[in-house]
Order: sequence, then structure tokens, then C-alpha cells
Amino acid sequence: MNTERVRLAEIAAVSTPKIRLATVWLGGCSGCHMSFLDLDEKLLELAERVTLVYSPIADVKEFPEGVDVTLVEGAVANTENLHLAQQVRSRSHLVISFGDCAVTGNVPGMRNRLAMEKVLDAAYGTGPQRPPNGDGVLPALLPKVLPLHQVIPVDGFLPGCPPSAQRIWDAICTLLPPVPPLAGPEAGDERSLS
Ligand code: SF4
Repeated sequence: MNTERVRLAEIAAVSTPKIRLATVWLGGCSGCHMSFLDLDEKLLELAERVTLVYSPIADVKEFPEGVDVTLVEGAVANTENLHLAQQVRSRSHLVISFGDCAVTGNVPGMRNRLAMEKVLDAAYGTGPQRPPNGDGVLPALLPKVLPLHQVIPVDGFLPGCPPSAQRIWDAICTLLPPVPPLAGPEAGDERSLS
């Protein structure tokens, strides 16, 4: 990050309220979150502009109220995904379908061609015990894996498997409040970039 961008981030931090950002991991491989972490040094700039209120990379147990923007990775594959997606929708101003699994069902949706019993047998075998599906320990699989927008209304789509870090950055930047304009040095304003 060059000096000017650092200064812009500092100025934004003191003059622009931070937005409350969340990221959620449903039925996906976490690759979209890995791509998010590939923002690398831009994460420092982002930290000046947002407060991360819920994420797999933050130790927060309950999805909070009053979230401004939530990025949702993964398809809706089981009852736990469904419950969290509905909670996200009711507690977020903007919900973004983040990555191809959320947008189309993608990899987890490949099981939709098979009967659910065959999927469970393939994963757990056909031993004397019933496969752990909705047994109170593991959530029950839904009959079909669904893209996010078929479960809750979404406000935007960020496709890619995974979306590149640059695409994630561009999308987030469009959602951030604009940085206030800078006064010129002739105005004696200490916020100038010189
Ligand atoms: Fe993983 Fe690709 Fe799905 Fe993202 S879109 S969760 S990278 S399979």
C-alpha cells in the first residue's frame, strides 16, 4: 500500500463510520474465505473501514443483529445452513451471494442427481447403524442442495470458484461509504496527502 492510500485509510477511519461486515460459511469448501484472506495487505486497509462482527475467522458464536453487509459462502445443504441463512437475512441490511456454491449450488449441488439415501450410504457406509442425518448431532441434509437466492432474497452476486481477491476487493469497495473529499494544501487542511 502506498503512502497516499495509507493516509486515505487513516482519514476514512476518523471521518467515516465503520460498516459492520460479516462473512458466513454454509455448504462450501472455505475456498472463498481463503480468497478473502488473499486480500493480504488490503486487509489492513479494510480494517480501517469495517468492523468484522461475525466470520469463520473470528470467534463469534451467534450471528449478531444490525449487520450492514454479509458475504455468504456456500450453498444451502442442510437444516443448519437453512437456519443460519434465514438469520443472516433477518439481521443484515445487504446480503451478498459469495462464490459459485452460493450463486448456483456448484460443487455441493452435484449430489442433487442422487437420492439422498445413496449419498449417505456413500459417505457413511451401510452398517448396522443409521447414517447420522438429523440425529441431533449432525444437521439433517435437505432433499436438494439450493443456491442461496432460492432460500432467501439476496442483494448481489459475487461469482467465481473462488472469486479472486481483486474481485472481492472491488465488490467490497463499492459497498463502503465514500472517503470524504480532501481539502487542498492551500486551505491549510492537515488532511492533505503531501
Ligand atoms: Fe469452494 Fe468454489 Fe464453492 Fe467457493 S465457490 S466454496 S472455492 S467450491
